[in-house]
Amino acid sequence: MSDHQWHPETLSVRAGSEHTAYGENSEAMFLTSSFVFNSAAQAAARFGGQEPGNIYSRFTNPTVTMFQNKLAALEGAEFCVATSSGMSAILACVMGVCSAGDHVVASRSIFGTSVQLFSNILKRWGLETTFVSLTNPDEWKAAVKSNTKLFFVETPSNPLTEICDIALLADIAHEAGVLLAVDNCFCSPALQKPLELGADIVVHSATKYIDGQGRCLGGAVLGRKEILEPVYGFLRTAGPTMSAFNAWVFLKGLETLHVRMEAHARNALELASWLEQQPGVARVYYPGLASHPQHELARKQQKSGGAIVSFEVKGGQEAAWKLIDATKMISITANLGDAKSTITHPATTTHSRVSPEARAAAGIGDGLVRIAVGLEHIEDLKADLALLAKSL
Ligand SMILES: *Cc1c(COP(=O)(O)O)cnc(C)c1O
Repeated sequence: MSDHQWHPETLSVRAGSEHTAYGENSEAMFLTSSFVFNSAAQAAARFGGQEPGNIYSRFTNPTVTMFQNKLAALEGAEFCVATSSGMSAILACVMGVCSAGDHVVASRSIFGTSVQLFSNILKRWGLETTFVSLTNPDEWKAAVKSNTKLFFVETPSNPLTEICDIALLADIAHEAGVLLAVDNCFCSPALQKPLELGADIVVHSATKYIDGQGRCLGGAVLGRKEILEPVYGFLRTAGPTMSAFNAWVFLKGLETLHVRMEAHARNALELASWLEQQPGVARVYYPGLASHPQHELARKQQKSGGAIVSFEVKGGQEAAWKLIDATKMISITANLGDAKSTITHPATTTHSRVSPEARAAAGIGDGLVRIAVGLEHIEDLKADLALLAKSL
């Protein structure tokens, strides 16, 4: 059995686990800021790097290391560094790969706070970003300059679930000598493995499906060790690292990742198909539906359509708000990746800082509603949205 390769489901449950002398079956949570040494000489060897081992929890922590090793096994990555949030994962990725004077090309439809990070904060530090269409490879090619270091993309996009061909974009990046980073938060490694498709870096908000129950903030950056070294260097120096407590919650969350993602996606597909039949709905966006313009690409690249379903209601913002306010069970919140289904009106929440013109250009209408489909029974979800059975 020694060369038997574990399946992804088994890696979720088993990979990365280590045990102390107590023989605990569930991983231990090491709530300690520092680690003690046997002698002054050992302390010197640890600090000098001649002896491996823990020194201080901003550098390494055994619970965080177990989480990193489990997620690396799931993404097929050589190396993983855990961070305090998804945003600090994206920041650490850029800090490790880019310097002042460099240039980044990013998809226009990335997470709203990521847009702010690139276009406001990193810009002040001399990093320039060009935003292009997620689905048009020619725009990526045309945006490359002599100082371009990084392509940054998120697929499927939020909230319209547009898909980017990761393998194609990786080829374009590599031809130009640029690294491709993919935010894999919406799919998780259970549904999509960007590194296998040619991406160089994966970033995660562990806050979402890795946790799976909406408890903790966290993130991760994954890829080859050579690329990740400076990312880790930034983290241990600047400090937005993951806490041992959060790492422990994410370790437990990952154990059920595959069964959860399958159940999320099954519910989402059934809900999306039902929504397509409702008189109050003008259009449904879900990659698992045959009506999705990139359904074939989604099938090739993802294991399923995922759990984010968006739809345009007839009657604009008034009708969208009426539907949201009529729900009794689904949580009105912009978070996603939770066992609890959530509902949000992108135009007035997640995308309210985008100008109405830019929103219209991106196709985010005033009647658009996004549901992150949870694990409740499908009939209860439909019942909570029963208003759609008539025109709103
Ligand atoms: C939530 C989210 C982030 C940011 O993660 P935090 O953990 O909230 O910092 C980044 N990218 C995507 C796609 C997200 O959904």
